[in-house]
Amino acid sequence: MAGNKKNFEWCVIGAGPAGIAAVGKLLDHDIPAQKILWIDDKFKVGDLGTKWHDVSSNTTVQLFLDFLNECRAFKFDERIQHFQIEKIDPHLTCKLMNIIKPLQWISNHLLQHVATYQGVVSCLAVNNRCWEITVDRHKFKVANVILAVGAEPDRIRHKNVKEIILEDALNYSHLKQCCENVNSVVVFGSSHSAIIIIRYLVELGVSRIVNFYQSPLKFALPMGDWTLFDNTGLKGTTADWARENILGKMPENLYRYQATKRNIRTYLGDCDRVIYAVGFHPRVVKVAGMAELQHNVYNGIIAPGLFGVGIAFPEQTTDPYGNREESVGLWKFMMHINTVLPIWLRYGL
Ligand SMILES: Cc1cc2nc3c(=O)[nH]c(=O)nc-3n(C[C@H](O)[C@H](O)[C@H](O)COP(=O)(O)OP(=O)(O)OC[C@H]3O[C@@H](n4cnc5c(N)ncnc54)[C@H](O)[C@@H]3O)c2cc1C
Repeated sequence: MAGNKKNFEWCVIGAGPAGIAAVGKLLDHDIPAQKILWIDDKFKVGDLGTKWHDVSSNTTVQLFLDFLNECRAFKFDERIQHFQIEKIDPHLTCKLMNIIKPLQWISNHLLQHVATYQGVVSCLAVNNRCWEITVDRHKFKVANVILAVGAEPDRIRHKNVKEIILEDALNYSHLKQCCENVNSVVVFGSSHSAIIIIRYLVELGVSRIVNFYQSPLKFALPMGDWTLFDNTGLKGTTADWARENILGKMPENLYRYQATKRNIRTYLGDCDRVIYAVGFHPRVVKVAGMAELQHNVYNGIIAPGLFGVGIAFPEQTTDPYGNREESVGLWKFMMHINTVLPIWLRYGL
């Protein structure tokens, strides 16, 4: 590619919910479709589409519907097809599989308009006031890049106990297979994911379930126009189950211990399997000259013309009592892009 001629004005890397929202909002801001390049290794609605479909949502169906209808460019109102999610009470939560099909419909619709490349980006570098993106053997020159690359589950790794990865643990039938001929399973964590897994293990009748937690259970509490522990508290059916079974009548096969070194030493060793539901870290994308990517937690800026969104680069919010949380969820990504995109449009190289 010659000189510093840019191939595209914008490149969105990642086609999960955050990438879908970013492409939709760029189009809504009148960026011509042919000036947008969209890169993903699968275009299957990200980790949501490929890993978390069996998980009970912690947000209401209404927020998913709001996401689907937010961007004009999604053209969701022009669909002929109807989706199961539209038949569910909007005040309820649902299995995440219900949001995946409509998101895949939107993704397919956007794919017909913007330029796309299926592959894994290996490196970004600034050259002649352009971002040069290396993917497979190609190089694209782009004025601005939005990273929506998602996050990987954190793992602690205890050498002597075999791990069930989070993806399998959050899928009931996979977990069932993983627990065949297994007597005891340890779960680290006490968040939404951890409680779903503990519930599955109780229902599967695993003889001994050990849960190591760091802090007491947290529940989201609606406070009118804001929600206490909105991003970290338990919600929906998972919260109901935790109240009845952990704070109420503890299942006979469930043992909970604070995650102190001593407790872990005492109770982990004789367990057959371990599951870590202890958080996520951003997927790594190599950027020349930056050892580690750090985003501004209020506006998503990483560098001039380089921005981050989604679970990898979440917005930090502060509630009226000063509690700070990372704001994660489809609707939150969309609202954050709404706020920051006008800044990103003016913060190029
Ligand atoms: C268990 C669980 C339950 C959740 N429940 C809810 C819920 O109820 N409601 C809600 O709103 N949110 C929920 N979330 C949060 C959030 O919506 C999802 O985590 C969502 O998948 C994050 O979207 P994303 O687009 O940021 O990342 P992802 O969905 O992970 O998408 C990132 C995409 O980028 C691609 N990619 C990464 N690196 C590269 C590269 N170098 N080159 C090319 N492509 C690349 C990946 O392959 C992937 O396709 C949940 C999350 C988890 C983990």
